[in-house]
Amino acid sequence: MRNKTLNMDTKIAEYQPVIGLEVHVQLKTNSKMFCSCPTVFGAIPNTNICPVCTGQPGVLPVANRKAVELSIKTALALGCTINNLSIFARKNYFYPDLPKNYQISQYESPFGMDGVLEIDIHGKAKKIRIKRVHLEEDTGKLLHSIGSTELDYSLIDFNRSGLPLLEIVTEPDITSPEEAWSYLTGLRNLLRYIDVSDCDMEKGSFRCDANISVRDSAMADTGKLGIKTEIKNLNSFKAVKDALGYEINRQVKQLKAGKEVVQETLLWNDRQGRTESMRTKESAHDYRYFPEPDLPPFEFSGNLLEKLKGELPELPHQRKKRFISEYLLTDYDADVLTSAKGLADYFESGVNAAKDSVPPDASLKFAKPFANWVNTELTGRLNARGQTIEGCSVSAGYLARLVVMVCEEKISNNIAKQVLDDMFETGRKPEEIIREKGLTQISDEKEISGLIDKVIEENPIPVEEYRGGKKQALGALVGAVMKKSGGRANPQMVNRILRTKLGG
Ligand SMILES: [Zn+2]
Repeated sequence: MRNKTLNMDTKIAEYQPVIGLEVHVQLKTNSKMFCSCPTVFGAIPNTNICPVCTGQPGVLPVANRKAVELSIKTALALGCTINNLSIFARKNYFYPDLPKNYQISQYESPFGMDGVLEIDIHGKAKKIRIKRVHLEEDTGKLLHSIGSTELDYSLIDFNRSGLPLLEIVTEPDITSPEEAWSYLTGLRNLLRYIDVSDCDMEKGSFRCDANISVRDSAMADTGKLGIKTEIKNLNSFKAVKDALGYEINRQVKQLKAGKEVVQETLLWNDRQGRTESMRTKESAHDYRYFPEPDLPPFEFSGNLLEKLKGELPELPHQRKKRFISEYLLTDYDADVLTSAKGLADYFESGVNAAKDSVPPDASLKFAKPFANWVNTELTGRLNARGQTIEGCSVSAGYLARLVVMVCEEKISNNIAKQVLDDMFETGRKPEEIIREKGLTQISDEKEISGLIDKVIEENPIPVEEYRGGKKQALGALVGAVMKKSGGRANPQMVNRILRTKLGG
């Protein structure tokens, strides 16, 4: 009996979450998926509509070529196998936001299958398998309130109806809320790199649903999965993380109490920080999928796939590897720089700009400190102002010139930081600010020598200590000279001359 209890306790401690994510991404096209209505966000409700996207009888859908190409590009970037013959299917269900009573989607032959996205968890790479990438049309949007006024009826806006929507589904490979966060960050980064979507969660162009179950070690050993719930209404990465954390706890508590987890769809209530039951889960069978008779099957030739592959830019993980090998950056710096395409572009454009002013053998030595300046000083100032790199008032070329001056010891680090502050405010050239404020580094032997003489005279105690063998006393004297020069004296020269004057 005692043994049995012990066993059970161990099992409870070892509940393992199993998470799969479904991400819906609105593709960057000018027109909708099956009609020519515009896709602009924020238009007056029900102005971007036509008989096709409002489900009028007698109309026929025509597939948007650009949307199909963006989908294939995404599938290729995720390393998916592309189905050479792909078909659309009707997913039948009744809901007020779906005027046709079916959604054109993909079921048996999605565009892409069996891909992978590598994520980074505490410095270790983990592969999250991608089950499928398929294209469908978005639904209309129901409004239950206007501003803060709750309505006792619902309004419908069909502007969103028929927007091209790409669904990217993972295998249940994610085992913690942190991994889910990392996956979503990596996926959004990739989609922005290949420019298929702006991935703006606030505008609803990047949406996530999560499937989650927990299992004990015995089940994990046999590969069995627990009963899962699906969480919807996750409107931010933080909401995904919070909701998963909440749901893991809820399911474990349920199982610990000897109860079963009910298979159901849940809504995340962000304000109250908990999940709420929405409906018990309908199985895929309920949708009565069948091939869409109004659209022909898609056949992709090898040529088209090669062409689309050729249009893909360097992907984040490839770029990171190149930054490490080409610029000798640390793994950390390369990781931060390639975390957003804009930041990586900024870095490379600065390095290229510096090539003109730095001799070829020095440009490698420049890349590292420049990466450092971008990742700390620049990013710090951007974050403090709530700005993005795209809206940065300091051009990459100007920052590069500033860092070149630091590398060539024309100005000190501290002076450069002051100059950067000014550049942020005014967007001016660093040379101009330095000249105007008289901030150039003092590298004149005579001038430095004069400063040192004064400091020696004013600081007899550390001078005595140094001469008596206490070598650390030099630091205080160097500091005093730097202070006297307003931070402009060349520190190396100060060190050298000071040692000579003090006799070794
Ligand atoms: Zn339309």
